[in-house]
Amino acid sequence: QLPPECARLRAEIDLAALRSNVRVLRERAVGGAQVMAVVKADAYGHGLVPCARAARDAGAAWLGTATPHEALALRAAGDGGRVLCWLWTPGGPWREAIEADIDVSASGRWALEEIVAAARACGRTARVHLKADTGLGRNGCQPADWPDLVAAARAAEAEGAITVTGLWSHFACADEPGHPSIAAQQESFRTALAVAERAGIRPEVRHFANSPATLTLPDAHYDLVRPGIAVYGLSPSPEVGTPQDFGLRPVMTLAARLAMVKRVPGGHGVSYGHSYVTPGATTLALVPAGYADGIPRHASGSGPVLVAGKWRTVAGRVAMDQFVVDLGGDLAETGDEAVLFGPGDAGEPTAEDWARATGTIGYEIVTRIGPRVPRVYA
Ligand code: PLP
Repeated sequence: QLPPECARLRAEIDLAALRSNVRVLRERAVGGAQVMAVVKADAYGHGLVPCARAARDAGAAWLGTATPHEALALRAAGDGGRVLCWLWTPGGPWREAIEADIDVSASGRWALEEIVAAARACGRTARVHLKADTGLGRNGCQPADWPDLVAAARAAEAEGAITVTGLWSHFACADEPGHPSIAAQQESFRTALAVAERAGIRPEVRHFANSPATLTLPDAHYDLVRPGIAVYGLSPSPEVGTPQDFGLRPVMTLAARLAMVKRVPGGHGVSYGHSYVTPGATTLALVPAGYADGIPRHASGSGPVLVAGKWRTVAGRVAMDQFVVDLGGDLAETGDEAVLFGPGDAGEPTAEDWARATGTIGYEIVTRIGPRVPRVYA
């Protein structure tokens, strides 16, 4: 029996599937590399704390977050294991993170200086992961500046303000197997590691691999892999494969109950703008899910939904709270189940089907499911 707040729309989160995915990833990690389950963005929309606990239960030695507040939320929920947090801006809560025993990341001198000041202020030694930009062109230290960052970190280590716990980087195109940037980034990372080693840095963990690299590039596993999307049972890209190819099980099912079913005549406009007009007398079903819940407005005319045993397509525009599907000659009743996506085992579309239908990636489909949608954990 579902709680009343789930009568409209709910995201069912299969924590047994998540645990199984973490075990699969641990088995794939070569040479005893540890697993960091990436739980940023509310665990890719699946719910931070329950997913973090499930990942720990399945043996994730590390958790990874983007923002410091996500990392601090893990501590507030009682997580006492290793946590790395990497997306910092000047004036961030370094001291709180260091006092909470969270590993922090530095991509440049400004970050290192703020970390050292915070560590001194609280009398602790900060655990720091130095991030190299090996070609992603996003966060991370450029090769030209790396020797300087490494030397400054070494000096801060000597002073006792920090320990360089990690050396790390992130791939740009690991989800496109064979992309030439993959080998180039690996070469650049080897150079960065060698520079750090010559400077006397002895990190506990070197890490590079996101989900696609965890699944396809064993020589990038080093001491720790950092899968995100694979933890939630989705594939990083069709080129990498399907979740089933790797024994991964999709964790989220998004299901609604029809708020209305009615007969309308042919020529009836549907939803704002009347971009869909019924081709003949038909049955319309109202799905109480809209862009305020994270349903892409781009799904207008393309998003697939399982209703009354068949895939239907969003008819007309997705509105803030609802959209319509045309059941044609089929019957359904108010209150019947509509499954937007799930593992696909019961004939429902998957998050990847939604990604294809809306020109995005599975990551965005699950992550954008909003806070108004109750998560139901099983
Ligand atoms: N590591 C870092 C630094 C990330 O930003 C992310 C997510 O984008 C991941 C690992 C996990 O990536 P994925 O979800 O592709 O496994």
